[in-house]
Amino acid sequence: MPQTKPTALIIGAGFTGIATAYDLAMRGFQVDVLERGELGSGTSGRTHGLLHSGARYCVHDQEAAVECVAENAILRKIARQCIEGNSGYFIAVNESDLAFAESFTRGAEQCSLPIAEVPPAELLTVEPMLSPQLLRAFRVNDGTFDPLRLAYAFAASARQHGARFYPYCEVEELLLDQSRRVVGASVWNRVTDQRQQYQADVLINTAGVWAGRIAAMAGIELPVKPVPGVMVAVEKRLCQNTINRLNEPGDGDIILPQRRMVVIGTTSFDAVDVDYIPIIREQVEQMVDQGSEMIPAIRQTAHRGVFMSSRPLIKASGDARNLARTCKVYDHEKSDGVGGFFSLIGGKATTCRAMAEKISDMVSARFGIDAACQTARIELESYRKFFQFGTEQA
Ligand SMILES: Cc1cc2nc3c(=O)[nH]c(=O)nc-3n(C[C@H](O)[C@H](O)[C@H](O)COP(=O)(O)OP(=O)(O)OC[C@H]3O[C@@H](n4cnc5c(N)ncnc54)[C@H](O)[C@@H]3O)c2cc1C
Repeated sequence: MPQTKPTALIIGAGFTGIATAYDLAMRGFQVDVLERGELGSGTSGRTHGLLHSGARYCVHDQEAAVECVAENAILRKIARQCIEGNSGYFIAVNESDLAFAESFTRGAEQCSLPIAEVPPAELLTVEPMLSPQLLRAFRVNDGTFDPLRLAYAFAASARQHGARFYPYCEVEELLLDQSRRVVGASVWNRVTDQRQQYQADVLINTAGVWAGRIAAMAGIELPVKPVPGVMVAVEKRLCQNTINRLNEPGDGDIILPQRRMVVIGTTSFDAVDVDYIPIIREQVEQMVDQGSEMIPAIRQTAHRGVFMSSRPLIKASGDARNLARTCKVYDHEKSDGVGGFFSLIGGKATTCRAMAEKISDMVSARFGIDAACQTARIELESYRKFFQFGTEQA
């Protein structure tokens, strides 16, 4: 039977690529996803798993905060299977934290972000491991999600709509025609060690911190800024809700429960090589120091592990910590004269569905498809179904 659907080739199966595969497949595209490792093996499988309420960004990055408010509510509805039924607190344990409270409450109001002040004595009954120095606390709508389950739930849903996933397939080259239109990719299958070409009507670059390398294959410079962070997993579940320091964003200012552990995060520094993010001992010590100011027992508890990944942020001047957490879609036909090629960088795991909607709107419009996005209202398939819905052979 002749192929009637427009075809889309997505490079990179992190949250961004997988959520985009789901959205485009629902709108009628035949989608193939190429991933050089396993699904979620880039940054996405290695996040804290903090379902952001937006509170962390309500003072300095209000656009990101407002996006988080909306997407938090949507993910709690469509991805209940991957999210703990917990919430979060911003806590003050010293004078500098107390001084930040005014900016925080003002920022929350400006972003229509629901917060509620909780008396320290009351919170200590809910979270008894918190520092007895607790001075002030606000409840926010943060939560904990399981990163891999969330990625596989989006992937199962994409597969149910016909998307195909090709793990261990690394894009080595983009194929351009004489009019500088991208028409496919040359791919190295890392399992079979074979090389193969994939053709498509449109190619979408969601390769995270590696997106700059993919764009460079078409002679395009993409302003992606890798900003790595290190996280420490501690052997005991020392809190039930996410705990944030009530202060400017900084190292070691988040502690969140993940299964039977807590994870302390994170740092923010410049990457020299995105394929090798070093674990810097001083950063680990710094996070333990900072974390134990909020939960003193952290200092006496064994580490389960230390892990790291790198944020694919949009390059701008200034300190990496303060780069915006919003996303940007590039239609390279408009920006660089290279047709059939889009890139999506920036954002957060929490906002991946909205990011996918944004790029899918643009790609669909290019193909004259006016199907509306439906991903905000339909519950995702079980992550377990990913392996039941088919196994593609590259
Ligand atoms: C330390 C840290 C903690 C974080 N914590 C949170 C959090 O708690 N909550 C939250 O909402 N967000 C969090 N984030 C942000 C979030 O994790 C990222 O925004 C998100 O995972 C990025 O997803 P992505 O799909 O864009 O990139 P990735 O997940 O990196 O996906 C890109 C994929 O492209 C693949 N790829 C690369 N090159 C090729 C190639 N040539 N061919 C084929 N495939 C290729 C890679 O293997 C990778 O799997 C955190 C980020 C960091 C760094």
